[in-house]
Amino acid sequence: MQQHDLADHHHEHHRHEHHRHERELHDAPPDRNRPRKQEQEDASTEITEVAHGILRSQLPISMPGLGHVNCYLMEDERGVAVVDPGLPGDDSWNALVDRLGEAGYRVGDVHTVVVTHSHPDHYGGAMRLRHETGAEIVTHETFRTIWEADDLGDEDSSTLEINTADDQAEALERYFSRPSPWGGRRAGPSPEFLERLRKAGESHGGAFAIPGPTVPLTDGQTVELARREWVAMHTPGHTYDHLCLYDPEYGVVLTGDHVLPSITPHISGLTPQADPLAEFFSSLGRMEELDGVTVALPAHGHPFTDLGGRARHIIEHHEDRLDIVRGAWPDLPNGTVRDFMRVLFRERSWGDMAESETYAHLEHLRELGELTRDDADGVARYAPAQ
Ligand SMILES: [Zn+2]
Repeated sequence: MQQHDLADHHHEHHRHEHHRHERELHDAPPDRNRPRKQEQEDASTEITEVAHGILRSQLPISMPGLGHVNCYLMEDERGVAVVDPGLPGDDSWNALVDRLGEAGYRVGDVHTVVVTHSHPDHYGGAMRLRHETGAEIVTHETFRTIWEADDLGDEDSSTLEINTADDQAEALERYFSRPSPWGGRRAGPSPEFLERLRKAGESHGGAFAIPGPTVPLTDGQTVELARREWVAMHTPGHTYDHLCLYDPEYGVVLTGDHVLPSITPHISGLTPQADPLAEFFSSLGRMEELDGVTVALPAHGHPFTDLGGRARHIIEHHEDRLDIVRGAWPDLPNGTVRDFMRVLFRERSWGDMAESETYAHLEHLRELGELTRDDADGVARYAPAQ
């Protein structure tokens, strides 16, 4: 597993308007001629007001496809709330302190941390802020990282507490040493990655703690930040615990990684839910139905206005990918998740995350009654339903 597998990696999928084009794209040199996506831009030190009382700051991250995470600063009479305070570790922390200063705040002014979902580029700074300022931590009530979650039925995992980089490295090793829900062995984190993680932890132990929410929100509950009343929207798909916040009065939506301006978020098949792709479709459908959206504030890339159109586009993207799976059946009569992954993803994306997303698509087709699954030899095999 590379570092990006730890965090939310956003795959760039095959283009597939016409199957004929795919071959050409396979053969084309990767990346070089492709314009840089806005989500890839390096973190700027600039602070911009994107809605009244809401400032966009950017923190550095380096993962394939992502150059920054937006950390929104929401101002009010009590100080400031931050949304998605970046990766764990000193580099991100120093950048956060710097951006706060640029906006006229000290760390002590932070009274609330909103975390949109359980990926480290979003929650990394949360517990350090809480330690320093006693800030509240707002998440969806189901907030939980996959390596803490008990989705594979391991009875020991409930006793797992992650406070340090060592704890986290151990939890990752443990998690990835178990077979995937589709039966294959996982690549898991590389020894080099785990070594780097443990080393990074030596200089600031507590900074790697995974936050527990002090304000766990349920769908429809409201929270006041930046002198606005936000409605919590539970938007499972990218992760099960994904939270968006919607200000119906002014049409502002914090979209996290649920809807990004120019890349599609990775859909994890590793959730306790039977059909995460169906949940993603319905979460996207709710974005289309929002009234009077004036600006969408994503966790990566630039603020944008056509939230409904972008959500529709992402739905269509996954419908196209389901069609690719359907088109591959004749060649893969008893295909495994890995077989279908090779059809859906470019070779440079093959790995744990591509398998997980492929699994989500196959399970969706099974839920629709189009595929059957057979686990007889310990590995899930899919065949068209008769
Ligand atoms: Zn992200």
